[in-house]
Amino acid sequence: MKYIIALDQGTTSTRAIIFNGNGGIASSASREFRQIYPKAGWVEHDAEEIFVSAAGVIKEALLKADIKAADVAAMGITNQRETTIVWNRFTGEPVCNAIVWQCRRTAQFCEGIKNKGLAPLIEQKTGLLIDPYFSATKLKWIADNVSGAAEGLQNGGLLFGTVDTYLLWKFTGGKVYATDYTNASRTMLFDIHNLCWDKELLSVFGIPSGISLPEVKPSGAFYGKTDKDIFGCEIPICGIAGDQQSALFGQLCIKEGDVKNTYGTGCFLLMNAGKKPCAGGNGLITTLCAGIDDKPQYALEGSVFIGGAVVQWLRDGLGFIQTAAESEALALTVKDSGGVYVVPAFTGLGAPYWDADARGTVTGITRGTTRAHIVRAALEGIAYQVNDVLRAMETAAGVKVSRLAVDGGASANNFLMAFQADISRCEVARPEVAESTAKGAAYLAGLACGLWSMQDLMGFSCATRTFSPNMKDDERAALLSGWHNAVNRTLSK
Ligand code: ADP
Repeated sequence: MKYIIALDQGTTSTRAIIFNGNGGIASSASREFRQIYPKAGWVEHDAEEIFVSAAGVIKEALLKADIKAADVAAMGITNQRETTIVWNRFTGEPVCNAIVWQCRRTAQFCEGIKNKGLAPLIEQKTGLLIDPYFSATKLKWIADNVSGAAEGLQNGGLLFGTVDTYLLWKFTGGKVYATDYTNASRTMLFDIHNLCWDKELLSVFGIPSGISLPEVKPSGAFYGKTDKDIFGCEIPICGIAGDQQSALFGQLCIKEGDVKNTYGTGCFLLMNAGKKPCAGGNGLITTLCAGIDDKPQYALEGSVFIGGAVVQWLRDGLGFIQTAAESEALALTVKDSGGVYVVPAFTGLGAPYWDADARGTVTGITRGTTRAHIVRAALEGIAYQVNDVLRAMETAAGVKVSRLAVDGGASANNFLMAFQADISRCEVARPEVAESTAKGAAYLAGLACGLWSMQDLMGFSCATRTFSPNMKDDERAALLSGWHNAVNRTLSK
């Protein structure tokens, strides 16, 4: 039998999952690596440590399932997005730690770009909103602050890449310098309409004009082979995609209007917007989907800052529950939230409100309010926020969402999923094996190496639990009106 390896290089851990020819999981291995916080708001990783963890988890997963590298048809890489690495083309050595997507060190520089009135130009070309999150200002920071970096980037002695590009370069023994459309679309240097790196953007960000930039390819494509010294034989690398786009593909959201939401610490919604880009607005961004041809589809992306994190707050901050899972049973001990709303704007509100200064509120408390009402209202608050993003996406894309594909830690909560279906009046579909991110990378690689067809993939994803809407329209309208009233009390303006 032939196998596919998915390498899932995340923000806090690196995982390898080996899929058998039928799309089932043969084995997996995972390793955490260091989070480096040199100053308040700064986040770094050691890129070499990430590579060592990646090679390590793949070897471990192969060993666990007693699979030889020669039996691997292909490998796909999915990765934390936007994180920026600059390394020496000759020695492979990074010039400094990787600057992680979460790092806020370029906030002031971003303000300067906004004040110059460059936001519309950048948004028009890249689909993104100016924010330290994306790679461009991180690269600029390295050019300005690491000795010799600007010269090295200018003369090609140094290479720039996101995590996928660095790993690909390392795995191929420095032979292949490439990335895929999804990762390129997060750099803020890539024109998502003409599908090319953009010189004007380089100049806007003050990045050395002679910089080498990786070749950009479809997510499912042959990228190169791993150096035979790493795994004892060469493994073809046939897939690369940023984590959220990989999850969208792993959920088989390949048609216009298909949407997935990942309920993690925060929530990440992506909607397949089809062949034509549509402007986001309301804090939504436009980005590229993973695919196997050179005309990638577009996606709308929106995020909710506090998703599962509100459940951690109930547990650790308030001591209302002992475990996250307990929230489900407790919520079900009351028939409704008793008029209580929890708006978890702990760090401001994301799309569609986009209010950094909003702070959380609990409204509607009476003498009869219990712990169960608040826990229930907090879970409902996650669903309301997701619903707000869904509705904004529908407006932007001009489509009606009838099904939401879900994954992530908090999607295990059946009460939350049922409430989401009710409040959004759509089917909520949760795959039994919710490894959507890894699945996406495996599917892309499996398609590109010819092991699987699209039809095979459709056959793999059958075991799904579906939650159907079961709430009367007037009840939904009343609840939504109460929610929006609570949000209004939360907004800073
Ligand atoms: P991340 O990838 O962001 O670390 P995960 O996908 O691992 O997140 O999900 C973890 C989050 O899900 C935590 O915030 C946790 O509180 C929440 N969570 C986990 N299980 C449940 C549950 N049964 N009900 C509600 N929330 C849950």
